[in-house]
Formats: sequence, C-alpha cells, structure tokens
Amino acid sequence: MGVFENKFSWSKSRDEKFRECPRQYYYHHYGSWGGWDASAPAMTRELYILKNLKSRHMWVGEIVHHTIETALKNYVTTRQMNLEKYLSDMTARMRKEFRESRDKNYRKIKKVVGLFEHEYESKIPDSKWMEIHETAKRCLTNFFTITFPRLVQPVPVENWKLIETLQEFDFEGSLIYVKIDFAFMDQEGLKIVDWKTGRTEDVDNEIQLDCYGLFSKEHFKIPATSIKTVEANVNIAKENVRQMIEAKMDFAKHYLRNSIAGMKRVLKDEAKNIAEESNFPFTENEMTCRYCNFKKVCAKWR
Ligand code: SF4
Repeated sequence: MGVFENKFSWSKSRDEKFRECPRQYYYHHYGSWGGWDASAPAMTRELYILKNLKSRHMWVGEIVHHTIETALKNYVTTRQMNLEKYLSDMTARMRKEFRESRDKNYRKIKKVVGLFEHEYESKIPDSKWMEIHETAKRCLTNFFTITFPRLVQPVPVENWKLIETLQEFDFEGSLIYVKIDFAFMDQEGLKIVDWKTGRTEDVDNEIQLDCYGLFSKEHFKIPATSIKTVEANVNIAKENVRQMIEAKMDFAKHYLRNSIAGMKRVLKDEAKNIAEESNFPFTENEMTCRYCNFKKVCAKWR
C-alpha cells in the first residue's frame, strides 16, 4: 500500500475545530496523522484513538443517518420500507456498539466505535443511555411514518440524485469535501436534504448548506435559483426549506476564502501541508476543554 499524503482539505467540522481551539485542530488533523498504524509513535497512536471518539449525541445522529441511508438505498431496489425491521436492526447495532465501547475495544480493534463518555468514564446514568435509544427510535419512526411519505415517497426514484455520497470539489485550489444526505429533482429544480436529529436548530448549519449549493451548482450545471435546501428534522418531524440565491453563494465563497487562508497562514510549510504544534495555541474557553477528545493528553492540562 502507498503512503497516504496528508493533503489540505476544507470541511465545516474542520473550520469549527480551528475556531474553537487551534490546538485541538492540530491534534485532530496533524498530530494524529499515521496513528492508524499500530506501530506509529505512542503519542500519534493515542491522538488517533482519541480523535475518533464520538459523544453519545454524535453517535445517535450517525446511527440514524446510517439507518436512513440503508433504508433509502434498499427502497431503490425493493420499493419496501419496513420500520419494524430497521428499528430492530438499529437497536441491535446500538447494543453491540455500546458494549464494545464500554469494553474499550476501540483501543485494540480498528473501526470499533469509541464513545467519549466511556473513554473519560463520565458518570452517565442508565436512564440517560435509555434516552439516547429512545431518541434514535423516535427519529427513525418519524422518518418512516412522516418525513418519508411526505417528502421522499412522492418523488420517483429515477429523480433521486444522491444518497449519502461523499463528494469533493475544488475551490480556488483547495479541496472541499461535502457529504449530501439526500438530493432529488422535482418540477421546481434540485432539493438538497439534510437530515437533522437534534431537538434544537443548528444555528451554524448555513455555511454547510451553502457549500452543498456551491457543489451542486457545478455538479448538476444548474443555476442557484433552481436549488433549494431542506433541513429535515426527523426528531421533531419538521422541514425548513431555503431558496439558494447567488448572494448567499457569494457570501459562502467569501467565508471559505477567509477560513482557508486562516488555516494555511499558520502552517510551517503551506505547499506540503506541514504544521508545527507550537503554532497552534490552546483555547481559553474551559467549556471547550471539558468536552474535548484530547483533554487527557493536551499539554494545557499536564
Ligand atoms: S483540552 Fe482544551 S486546550 Fe487542549 S486541545 Fe482540547 S480544547 Fe484545546
């Protein structure tokens, strides 16, 4: 196997990390690089394990997204949606992943889920874990019984364009990654759907949706006025539709340009994407540290 190159790319989560704590960003994107190899230096390996931890709230979101993806892909070939089967599969998966995480198997085996709460031995009562399972069940039930029949089923599968496909596009010489949950064409144009699983609105989601718009405009060769984004919250069964306009795309380009420039400015070697730890300061916000995956190794706390 060839050696993977740590190429610079932009994503919304990368931008958030950089803004929240530059040192956390360094650990995640540079310090952990190569740590998938068991023979990597101990610190690199540790950073890699910690970087892959997810909170229980992220975990439930990922499981619901993945179950919806599987159900939609299966619907394309069978035209069947079987809620009971998917609820049962999802519950089995959650139980398995919970046990594996509690036993810290992610420290020994690749691709095993590791939860922040287990790594940091947070005292989460059983009732809170049960709430997580209830949330997952509610999201999936809402999707099957409300969102799918209302938003998706009326669209012929021939007009479904993307289901959870990782895409990339070039923005002024930098790679941008987007993963669109679902997209379809109807008589109005393209609808880009983003499944949400939290009870509250993600106020920071606009830049993500605008990036989906930027990608889709180029990819499908359509004007901004033919694109709408739909935030479909399956936790509360509500959709929020937004028209894409050129002015928003211009704003998104401006945002991307500034964000990328900020990240590249602190690199030791921009062309080779090489970073030096000391150029990435610690956040002063202790709330960010409290929920940071890297807290146990971060120099600020040692
Ligand atoms: S523990 Fe705090 S300072 Fe250290 S990387 Fe995490 S957020 Fe940054």
